[in-house]
Amino acid sequence: MNSGTTIGFVGLGIMGSPMAANLLKAGYAVTGYDVSAERVAQLAALGGKRATGVVDAVAGADVVITMLPDSPQVEEVAPLVIEYGRPNLLYIDMSTIKPETSRRVARQAAAAGVRALDAPVSGGERGAIDGTLSIMVGGAPEDVEEARPVLERLGVTIVHVGPAGAGQTVKAANQLVVGGIYGLVSEAIVLLEASGVNPAAGLDVLAGGLAGSRILELKRHTMVKREFVPGFRIDLHHKDMGIALAAAREAGVSLPLTGQVAQLVAAARAQGHGSLDHSALLKVIERLNA
Ligand code: NAD
Repeated sequence: MNSGTTIGFVGLGIMGSPMAANLLKAGYAVTGYDVSAERVAQLAALGGKRATGVVDAVAGADVVITMLPDSPQVEEVAPLVIEYGRPNLLYIDMSTIKPETSRRVARQAAAAGVRALDAPVSGGERGAIDGTLSIMVGGAPEDVEEARPVLERLGVTIVHVGPAGAGQTVKAANQLVVGGIYGLVSEAIVLLEASGVNPAAGLDVLAGGLAGSRILELKRHTMVKREFVPGFRIDLHHKDMGIALAAAREAGVSLPLTGQVAQLVAAARAQGHGSLDHSALLKVIERLNA
């Protein structure tokens, strides 16, 4: 893969837009499509080519990347990528979806001579803008190596974690940990405030000790101030908790804390906070106490 490589990019949302922009900056020719014409126009303003639909984005591309919300959208778009992609196309789905869907897409792709990878990401909008995402990749080793130069423009930590679907399983594990930490940081804030302790000062100490985490580092100030601009929406985290629980069921394991976190995220959604940042889990814990 060199900068003469042509990339078709489908799904130019919060994550896809800056990712496609980074590929343009790296010198790749990027043809973008999104159901939102406004998103496509934004990419065109940066030097990308507008596609009129998925088929148009895929036609002639050496690599196709999809960054879609959920499994149903990938199930709708992937068959078009597979049918209209050039022979031996490298298809990288970077959406967070069910491992089972990724495995099915990989099988259908292989039957049509297309090489598919599942490569979900972690690092949020900031990571997408800065090109510092963590990328967990499932698929054949030689395909991962071929995709690496493109992925290196999008992220810093790029790990081949196993065969098709393995990237999604690692992402599910990531999301259950992230959800759990948000839940516990929320409980810490409620405890500190109810005890008359300044939560900002308290969390500063936690952030520097064994309890320290990237979430405390990046989100403690906005959580204490109750600023919940997304970022990563509760609606998407609800989807990811469903993926984690489905993956656990398929693997035949019991994950009790994941179950509880999934219910808290569901409550945040039911209380009307679906479009807020996932740090708004704090609102649910507060409501349990007010
Ligand atoms: P988003 O909703 O902002 O973007 C998705 C885009 O896909 C939208 O612009 C939408 O119009 C477009 N789209 C939907 N259906 C389409 C179709 N059939 N054809 C073409 N375009 C279509 O979501 P996002 O935050 O960018 O997240 C994308 C994926 O990345 C999700 O799976 C999410 O879970 C994952 N993710 C998000 C973050 C984050 O912080 N936002 C972090 C890591 C992973």
